[in-house]
Amino acid sequence: MVDRVEERFELRPKRLIGDTAYGTAPMLGWMVEEKGIEPHMPVWDKSARKDDTFSNSDFTWVAEANEYRCPAGKPLRSNWRPFKNPRSHVTQADTIIYRASQSDCKDCAMKPQCCPNMTFRKIARSIHENARDVARRLRETEGYQQSRCERKKVEMLFAHLKRILKLDRLRLRGLSGAQDEFTTAAIAQNLRRLAKLASPIHPLGGQVAPAGNEMR
Ligand code: SF4
Repeated sequence: MVDRVEERFELRPKRLIGDTAYGTAPMLGWMVEEKGIEPHMPVWDKSARKDDTFSNSDFTWVAEANEYRCPAGKPLRSNWRPFKNPRSHVTQADTIIYRASQSDCKDCAMKPQCCPNMTFRKIARSIHENARDVARRLRETEGYQQSRCERKKVEMLFAHLKRILKLDRLRLRGLSGAQDEFTTAAIAQNLRRLAKLASPIHPLGGQVAPAGNEMR
């Protein structure tokens, strides 16, 4: 949709607001790296561990050295030796695996909290991790909070369409059928809202008194 709008009207949004479903690594990569759009959405991240061992977030990324530092200050690297033919190290899941050194982990006092069942610790870093970091940083801003409020308002309208106006599924077939049905439902919703706004009934249930004759 973003591409279509850009093609047709030469318009590109500065930010996009969405829920976690839009916070996947490829989607964030596309938004940040390809389109230069601010992603105002939570990052889809399943790396947090629930067994009290260190999560990926306990490791520090050092961009200049292209490595992670573990809580014991040791490096995790994608390649520990130079290869004759340079390798990208990108896996099928579009990640790069960073490994700690077996000799560092062997005698580490933190091993039980880090990699109790492995000889050394590994971290899979998405090739879109920089875009994911952009989304994480944006989450701390006031702009993100504002986006959240705005999203809530829009989501409420869709929820209303589905639950109250029963637009939980489309009855007409084809694109034009869907368009007609959706437009009709949106008109009905707007008329309802208009009627509510124009109603003299106070939201708390009482009548709105004419100006200069307030009800007590
Ligand atoms: S076990 Fe290895 S990776 Fe984990 S904290 Fe110790 S040295 Fe670092």
